[in-house]
Amino acid sequence: MAAAAPQLSESERFGYLKPKDVARLEEAYRFSEAAHAGQTRQSGEPYISHPLAVAEILAGWHLDGQTLMAALLHDVTEDTAVTKDEISDTFGKPVADLVDGVSKLDKIEFQSAEQVQAENFRKMLLAMARDVRVILIKLADRLHNMRTLGAVAPAKRRRIARETMEIYAPIANRLGLNTLYHELQELSFSHLFPMRYRVLAKATKAARGNRREMIGKTLDAVKKKLADSRIDAVVQGREKHVYSTYRKMIEKHLTFSEVHDIFGIRVIVKDVPTCYLAMGALHGLFKPIPGKFKDYIAIPKGNSYQSIHTDLIGPYGVPVEVQVRTEQMHRLAESGVASHWLYKDETDQLSDLQKQTHRWLQSLLEIQNQSGDPREFLEHVKVDLFPDEVYVFTPKGRILSLPRGATTVDFAYAVHTDIGNRCVAAKVNGELVPLRQELRSGDRVEVITASHAKPNPGWLQYVRTGKARSNIRHFLKTMQYEESANLGERLLDQALRALKGSLADVDDASWERVVRDGGARSKDELLADIGLGKRLPAVVARRLLKHTDPHREEALGTSVTIRGTEGMAVQLATCCRPIPGDAIVGSIKKGQGLVVHQSDCPAIIRSRKNEPDQWIDVEWDPRTTRLFQAAIQVMVENQRGVLARVASQIAEAGSNIDSIATAEDRALFTSMHFVIEVANRQHLARVMRALRRLPDVKKLARARE
Ligand code: MN
Repeated sequence: MAAAAPQLSESERFGYLKPKDVARLEEAYRFSEAAHAGQTRQSGEPYISHPLAVAEILAGWHLDGQTLMAALLHDVTEDTAVTKDEISDTFGKPVADLVDGVSKLDKIEFQSAEQVQAENFRKMLLAMARDVRVILIKLADRLHNMRTLGAVAPAKRRRIARETMEIYAPIANRLGLNTLYHELQELSFSHLFPMRYRVLAKATKAARGNRREMIGKTLDAVKKKLADSRIDAVVQGREKHVYSTYRKMIEKHLTFSEVHDIFGIRVIVKDVPTCYLAMGALHGLFKPIPGKFKDYIAIPKGNSYQSIHTDLIGPYGVPVEVQVRTEQMHRLAESGVASHWLYKDETDQLSDLQKQTHRWLQSLLEIQNQSGDPREFLEHVKVDLFPDEVYVFTPKGRILSLPRGATTVDFAYAVHTDIGNRCVAAKVNGELVPLRQELRSGDRVEVITASHAKPNPGWLQYVRTGKARSNIRHFLKTMQYEESANLGERLLDQALRALKGSLADVDDASWERVVRDGGARSKDELLADIGLGKRLPAVVARRLLKHTDPHREEALGTSVTIRGTEGMAVQLATCCRPIPGDAIVGSIKKGQGLVVHQSDCPAIIRSRKNEPDQWIDVEWDPRTTRLFQAAIQVMVENQRGVLARVASQIAEAGSNIDSIATAEDRALFTSMHFVIEVANRQHLARVMRALRRLPDVKKLARARE
């Protein structure tokens, strides 16, 4: 027989909420209890005891009603049949979003023990959470799980303890939840190293006992001195945490007694002037150690932590660390959301983003303290914690940080320049996506490369990182130069043959003179200039021949062949999208290289008449192997599933669809514009025949712009 479930109404933790909110909380509790009915925790308790404990922890931080409802429901979508929509319908979208946010965090697991990776993982969690309340629920959830970790199997216990130590405790530290931070550390340490924990905890207790007299004497002396000076103060001896003692021993190579012989006192007074009075009084009591006095009241720490620190030489010559602060400073330092943001952070460098987040967290704290308008609180809470970065996984579990809006191409270049240069496709979370897909925090990204692949100029339109952009540009520039020189050579050969000459006839001396006279630096540069349309091939050919044989006659020309694999030096015009089999002409434009059109393309009629020099005869190389883009216009009857039928017919004819645009012409018919990939005219004809067989298709034609 399971133990009786605890009741929300029995808890006094929720007293600060309005009665209306408590009533909603009761509803959420009953909903969750019903959903988890029959489930138990490892300890044998009814499952509902866990979400209730989590909500109670959050109530201890005085969080709003929505957060507490979400806490009660946080495991419902994962462990029961309840869906996000049901929660949204019953408790509203904000609560459902919080529950969903927590479930998303639960799904990603921390793998690597590397320090940089741990830092990135923490940032990823914060970036994914968006709403800081999600992180707070997750932290409370983790705290309760850690408190009850004894009931879990040892291997799992160690994994959870390690994750808590490396990920969740530092996040708590960052958010200034100091008490939580220390509790998570102590609990993790006790499960990771049970023996060491037991020994140190015992030693700590014993040491406290041994020094009880000294501690008592010091505290008494301090209290008396303050009372004599008529200063109202709370005097506390500061406990050393087992884990921080352990860490100090390891990091500074100290023995237990060396760490533990330093004794801490905290003095809490009502206002700032009293802080200085108290400090003065204590300096009169015990001798201060020179150079140890620090005034963080006059100059607060970066995280707005305030206190006066001083080290004194106490009775028996034992050093005593003293902190003096006001009550308000104390609250901030112990459990303020903002207080320890970045305090003791390894890097000490505040990025603008962190400063901004810090300011925001601080304002959040102020709003909470005034317990003012809850709507204002919510508005502030809805700010991205790291609005400018996304964190994604490589297939091996490494975490990369990229700017927001980064695509799979940026990811590929971030992994390695070669991967970027050769990427052809990408998978995100196991599914094929377009290269331009924007990445989101938590995505697992895999890049597919091909050895022959090259960067595409189109990528420049959507990449976000400087690394991707500069690498693509560099590659294209080098490529373009080589391609242009190649094309230039063929254009020049054609021009030479038109003059009954050939490249083979041209001697080195002639080349040298033509290169020099033309102001080029090399033969390659001259050829590239021809390929880019900066020089006319006929003019260069004539000059070359003039040097070798001044009496040559002009003859009829032959044409340049186009393979379609020339790269950027040869472009296929997008107005008419020529494919092998079409009659074609080429235009040479300055800086553009050769642009190939269908010879009856309406867009070029005027130019062919007015600027005949620009146009040259070109023809298809019979050996083309790549696929070419062709545009077709299809008018179909407006019926369910018609697009799928058309698309599958195109696919069955062995063609790929590159893009689809549809325009609603009339209610009865739709006009669809496809760009498809075909090998040549025969292939296109096959595709069109296949489409005509569809009863849906009313009109079909090759399209031109
Ligand atoms: Mn949970």
